Amino acid sequence: MDIVRCASCDGYGWTSDDIEGDQDCDWCGGVGYAYRGADGVDRRIPAADLDGLSEQLEQLEHERLRALGYSGGAKQPWEQPVRQTPGRKRLHPGLDEPTATE
Ligand SMILES: [Zn+2]
Repeated sequence: MDIVRCASCDGYGWTSDDIEGDQDCDWCGGVGYAYRGADGVDRRIPAADLDGLSEQLEQLEHERLRALGYSGGAKQPWEQPVRQTPGRKRLHPGLDEPTATE
């Protein structure tokens, strides 16, 4: 499975508009990248896969930043503190919802 830059946020992991400000990208869930299947359709990378893909994603991120003109070590979107503040962490939509079992 190929990994491609998210078409919606272009690898940034978030989108920005004048009305709502910065938000996690709805399409990739803040990862910045997506799977591209053999059928050419992009799919969100499950959060459970991220650990195993960290090297590959890091490589892609380096390439992206180099293309933008940055150098040096850049943090992955999911490692940036701003993305871990309460209310902004939406990497696992659906998993954070309260359950009625307690
Ligand atoms: Zn995206």
